[in-house]
Amino acid sequence: MIPRSEIHHILDGYARDEITLATMGSHTALQILKGAQDEGFKNLVICKRGVEEVYQQFGVADELLIVETYNQFLDEKLLKELRERTVILIPHGSFVEYLSPKRIETELSVPLFGNRMVLEWESDREKERRWLTQADLRLPEEFKTPDEIDRLVLVKFPGAKGGKGYFIASDPEEFERKFEKLNLRDKERFTIQEFVIGTRFYPHYFYSPLKDRVELLSMDIRYESNIDGISRLATILQDCPPDPSFVVTGNIPVVARESLLPQILKMGERVVKASKELFSPGLMGPFCLEMICTEDLEFTVFEISARIVAGTNLYINGSPYSHLLYHEPMSTGRRIAREIKDALGEDSLESIIY
Ligand code: AMP
Repeated sequence: MIPRSEIHHILDGYARDEITLATMGSHTALQILKGAQDEGFKNLVICKRGVEEVYQQFGVADELLIVETYNQFLDEKLLKELRERTVILIPHGSFVEYLSPKRIETELSVPLFGNRMVLEWESDREKERRWLTQADLRLPEEFKTPDEIDRLVLVKFPGAKGGKGYFIASDPEEFERKFEKLNLRDKERFTIQEFVIGTRFYPHYFYSPLKDRVELLSMDIRYESNIDGISRLATILQDCPPDPSFVVTGNIPVVARESLLPQILKMGERVVKASKELFSPGLMGPFCLEMICTEDLEFTVFEISARIVAGTNLYINGSPYSHLLYHEPMSTGRRIAREIKDALGEDSLESIIY
């Protein structure tokens, strides 16, 4: 783990009027870059060769750095260059996937917005469950062994964010049959989770440590293949239905019934409170709770993403909720830049960089 003091030491050396917000060219980089510009920051995008055109085409990047592989992101030469350019990095989903939480914690010697400790808590399923339980959220039941399966379950694999490879089963026999087909060696590495039936919501929250406030900025539903396609052909496929899969292919906007908003907000607040208890100073900035609303209007939460999620790309120009809060186009990317700007204004940058 890079000591916090070392990161804050780097930050102390930064000229405040030179700060550049930077991210990796992927996932939610467009809105992060646009948000940085809208808040008056210089920005920089680090791209793998071949994808730079997107960032040039949309005109949102002040500067581009090209790397040949994502691993190069952690080369001391590049990290030094980023520090020399007074960079604060903004993490996102691809960033975490390509660099791994451990490498971000131990090797990324550049100031990073938010609390690095959160990455370990969201990526380790046991820790994640402890965190969500401490937040008093309703979670799907989990089965320790396939023999215990007594209802429809979803079998999940680690690191398979985006739902790749997941399968459903209704009893131990179906589990064994489908599991054998996968030809996996390591039998331990899966989670068997009750499949909750209801409607899905993926609210995008932002916790501001400066204001000590949880904001609901927007919401989406993930569009998943082939499960979302099957429903269109339900009658035609009824004799020979394909195995459902849950690979994310896009995002659909949604708003929740207004009477559900108090519950949705409270869940976000409880998650922040629990994070402070478990890994002080806790979660900071954007996060998303993946949840299902059942017919009794109760939510079951099956996952947390403790950074900006791709569903926020629907709202580069703001959402109905962020409009009410800000009366100007406020994406999650821009909200991050606003928090950094506010921290600079209060001379408390070190309180949001860990
Ligand atoms: P995840 O990797 O946990 O985000 O799950 C990928 C997708 O699988 C989700 O977007 C949901 O559509 C579905 N899913 C995950 N967990 C559950 C669950 N416990 N019950 C029903 N659907 C789920």
